[in-house]
This record gives sequence, C-alpha cells and structure tokens, in this order.
Amino acid sequence: MSISSLHRLLGRLSCLGGLGEQCWNGWMGWKQWLWAQRRWGIVSLAIVTLLSVLNSAAVSSIVSLQASPTNPQLGDTISVFIQTDATDEAQPDAAQPTVVMNQKTYPTFAIAPHQFRALLPTTPLDRPGQFRIQVNGTGEPKTTALQLRDRDFPTQSIWLSGGGSDGTDYEFDKVDAFKAIVSPEKFWNGKFQRPSQGEISTVYGVRRYYNGEFAQDYFHRGVDYAAGTGSPVVAPAAGKVVLVGREADGFTLHGNTIGVDHGQGVTSIFIHLSRIDVKEGDFVQIGQPIGAVGSTGAATGPHLHWGLYVNGQSVDPVPWRYNGFE
Ligand SMILES: [Zn+2]
Repeated sequence: MSISSLHRLLGRLSCLGGLGEQCWNGWMGWKQWLWAQRRWGIVSLAIVTLLSVLNSAAVSSIVSLQASPTNPQLGDTISVFIQTDATDEAQPDAAQPTVVMNQKTYPTFAIAPHQFRALLPTTPLDRPGQFRIQVNGTGEPKTTALQLRDRDFPTQSIWLSGGGSDGTDYEFDKVDAFKAIVSPEKFWNGKFQRPSQGEISTVYGVRRYYNGEFAQDYFHRGVDYAAGTGSPVVAPAAGKVVLVGREADGFTLHGNTIGVDHGQGVTSIFIHLSRIDVKEGDFVQIGQPIGAVGSTGAATGPHLHWGLYVNGQSVDPVPWRYNGFE
C-alpha cells in the first residue's frame, strides 16, 4: 500500500467514524471536533511511519551474502552472491544492491528472482591479508571478511637502453574507455577457451625489474601465446566487439587491437594482431575467428597478448578457463 492511498483510506475511515471534516455536520461541538482531528492526526502519522519502515524493508533488504572462492589468491576474481527478501517490481533500480571492497563500489546483476551477483577483481598489486566485502541494499548493509592469499609471481629483468614506443594518448584514451565498459547483459556462457593454439610464453602476473629496479606498478596484465604471424585468434567467449584499433591510426604501443565486451563488466583485449577480421558492433561466438597473431605495436616477436578484465582490472584468466563463472 502506498502512503497516498493510506491517506485516502484514513480519510474515508475518519468519515465512517464521523470524525472527518466532511462529516462535520454540526452534531459535534467544536472542541470535540478539534480533539478528534488531533487524535486522528497522531494515529495517521503513526501508521504512516510504521508503513514507511515496512515499505523500505520490503524493497531489497539483504538476507545473505556468500563469496566464492572462500580462500582467494592474488589475481582471482571473487563472486559475491546476494540473496534479498523481496524486490520492488516498480523500482528495479532501488532493488539492485551494490558491493564495496577496498573503498570501491561494484555493480550487481540479477541472476534469479531476489538473487544478485557481483564480480570483484583482485590483482598482484593488492595487499594480501584480511579484507572486507560490504553489500549495500536499502536495509542494513551486510559484511563478510575474506583472507586474500599471497602468491609468488615469476619475475623478469629488463634492461632498457632507450627507444621504443610509449604509446599515444589516442590509444590510451580508447583502451581506458573500453576497460570502463559495464553492460548489464551477460554474453558469455560457461568456461572460457584459449584464444590461440600457441604455447603460453608469459603467464599472467609476471613482475619486472627494470635496469635492476623492481617495478612496483607493473605486472603482466594478461597471457602471451607464442604463435606464428597469421595464425588464428578466436574469441575465448561470446561477446560484442566494442573496440577496433589499428597501428596506422595511432595504436603504436598495442598495435592492431580488438576489444570484446563479454557483459557485466567482463572484457577481453587482444593486441599485436597482424590482421583484424571483425568490426565494432559485431557479435562473436565462442571459438569464432576474429583476427590473426602478429607483432604490430611494441612487440619483440609474433605473439598474442590476451588481457581479461573484470570491472576495469586485469585478472588471472586461469579460473575463467578451468572453472568458469556462471
Ligand atoms: Zn603480454
């Protein structure tokens, strides 16, 4: 019942009781009338207050939350499942809870009636140890604590002697905008597949020393597959092509690039391509050829770099390949 219909009902009730303005026919004394108005005013206010409390509790108060995996390590994607007691059909947005981790707010998406899911990225730059996940609905927020396990990543030593491309503002602006895409639809289904048949030459998360100094902010934001120029690159999961960048147009660091939106904040980028077989707006299916391996941009030899991003952060594709996220 809405507040306004309650007011209308109370108006009718007070008339039935002979206490409303409409019912003032002179049979009550003015003192009696004033008292009745005041009394009904207080009762009406009390009922309205009570109903407001019940109403806000009914929109989407969080009944339970569950995080998976329960013992994540650096680079893992954390699924947060949220159960709410009810959703307000008239206000679906108000019913959508949000999740906060490390002062960052992440969206949730409905997976079933009264059930929502958020995907939280972790990276090698996160601090291992205990952290909290808070779920905000319209009722009381709920929190849970998880332990983020440390992990040893391989290291590389690079000696720079100047030269090479630093990339252009044009390509960084395009790539940043691509990584920020969060579509409500979910395009992927089940486990991701490898985008190249080449052998993995550099795993996710490798850290670097440049000229002997540890690079605090660097980690390998993807997986490299060593394959010959021209060998096929396929979509690891279904999605929409939302970025096509060419070396000739200013993608001097990434080289020829394809960005695929898998939906709900999950995106894939493929760089250093020799050929691009799709255009922006195309929908691609899992396993569909989208381009070919190359060494365009800043690449020392032909290979495919595949970066998997969750809400803008580079995550380890391994759990997506072997376990999958439904
Ligand atoms: Zn790479």
